[in-house]
Amino acid sequence: MPRPIHARIHVSALRNNLAVVRAHAPSARVWSVIKANAYGHGIRNVYEGLRGTDGFALLDLDEALLLRSLGWQGPVLLLEGFFSTRDLDLVSRHHLATVVHNEEQLRLLEAHRGRRAIEVLLKINTGMNRLGFAPSQLQDAWTRLSALPFVSGITLMSHFANADENDGVAHQLSTFEKARAGIPGPASLANSAAILWHPATHHDWVRPGIILYGASPTGRQADIAASGLQAAMSLCSELIAVQVVARGDTVGYGSTYTASRKTRIGIVACGYADGYPRHARGSGRERTPVLVNGQRCRLAGRVSMDMLAVELPAHCDAGPGSPVTLWGPGLPIDEVAASAGTIGYELMCALAPRIPVQAD
Ligand SMILES: *Cc1c(COP(=O)(O)O)cnc(C)c1O
Repeated sequence: MPRPIHARIHVSALRNNLAVVRAHAPSARVWSVIKANAYGHGIRNVYEGLRGTDGFALLDLDEALLLRSLGWQGPVLLLEGFFSTRDLDLVSRHHLATVVHNEEQLRLLEAHRGRRAIEVLLKINTGMNRLGFAPSQLQDAWTRLSALPFVSGITLMSHFANADENDGVAHQLSTFEKARAGIPGPASLANSAAILWHPATHHDWVRPGIILYGASPTGRQADIAASGLQAAMSLCSELIAVQVVARGDTVGYGSTYTASRKTRIGIVACGYADGYPRHARGSGRERTPVLVNGQRCRLAGRVSMDMLAVELPAHCDAGPGSPVTLWGPGLPIDEVAASAGTIGYELMCALAPRIPVQAD
């Protein structure tokens, strides 16, 4: 028997979340961002739920080719572009769209002798200071790209550093609009936070990531509570043992949890080697929530490599074999993440390869 831990990907939630994106940005087309193996969900597992998108955006050529092998013939965008001539040949052969964000990529394109059309997203650095041409270089880069016969279209693109804050896009948006004055073509700016909270940024293509998976761009579940987004992943396991501890007994490494009365402690087959955060609070107040038999319990003590412990409430009759939800519908991943000092993004992406994942 394998360990009872497993993840489930909820196809109907993905479909719902894509519809939420479209409702927020009705006139934009959608690049569904599935980098990092679809934020840990698995590209194969999300494909069915997201195939109603206009395009998929990701980083790795391997992931792009996987999408093609699944039958996706629509647009695929490489968010960091290509890194070599060999990559560029694959971009051309598999009809991928590519970001161009630096001089090296521009030169590789100028040296490229292929004939097949390549769609380009020209990236402008408007203040994130990660990727992109400076606004002052934009006109030159655009002119050089336009001169290449195989470049079939140029979309201007930028990325926000603070779209999860109230006036977090104003400065970058105005830098973008000034930089592109006089340059024709569509534009793509909005990540999840900008889709939800900054409609002025929607332009022609939006690029949702985290909200497709049902978590909050801010890390705070309350910020998306009214949006209709649904959790796309459940991390599930079971109790594999129960200990009865007396008042004053401690649980786990470092003995950080002390029972305040006679307490039943459930041991769950899930630990940090599964991707569950070791920093999840297990002592003091506001310990991390865990669902046992659908009922909210709290973590007890430190998370270990393959197991964690939960305090079972007095009236809870859970025992070995009882179902446990670490996160999913009914227990937002954002809440668990907050309790571990991080955000839902990181927990999703950290899902360990040893966990079996199935789409439902
Ligand atoms: C990851 C990424 C996104 C999606 O970000 P979310 O915050 O998950 O919506 C959009 N655009 C670019 C360039 C990205 O790298």
